[in-house]
Amino acid sequence: MQPATRKRLEIRAHHLLCMFGFKGLGYSRAFVDNMRTIVDSFFSQWGAEVELLTGCDAICAACPHVRHGKCAAEEGADLAVRTRDEKVLAMLGLAAGDRLDSPSLVRLVADKVQPSELPLICAGCQWLPVGYCQEGLSNFQRGR
Ligand code: SF4
Ligand code: SF4
Repeated sequence: MQPATRKRLEIRAHHLLCMFGFKGLGYSRAFVDNMRTIVDSFFSQWGAEVELLTGCDAICAACPHVRHGKCAAEEGADLAVRTRDEKVLAMLGLAAGDRLDSPSLVRLVADKVQPSELPLICAGCQWLPVGYCQEGLSNFQRGR
């Protein structure tokens, strides 16, 4: 049965891509549990209402790397991840503050982003060499 109200999520733009590749890896147990809940809502049949950000979001909220509301995973990380957010927004033709339902966002990402573009978008991310994100997006595109 359709829920009375959709869950609302604040998601930074590059995390749209990360969610396609999520397979239970992350920075801590709390991070993984939180991200699993968010990913489940994002891809659920009824979806969630999503507001796009270029700063810390619902996924960062449980990340041990947040310091004073910014990503401090390494030197220069906050600027790097914001730049990644901006790249993804530009590719999707969207802007920070835009609100969409998650099924529409899932379709948009699958239409506009190719797995082969991830090395450029995600340069420097420690998870890129693992390959799950390209694989997840590719599998989704093939399964449509
Ligand atoms: S490579 Fe990193 S930034 Fe890119 S989608 Fe995967 S986890 Fe996210
Ligand atoms: S590493 Fe940075 S951008 Fe990624 S979840 Fe943690 S705080 Fe957010």
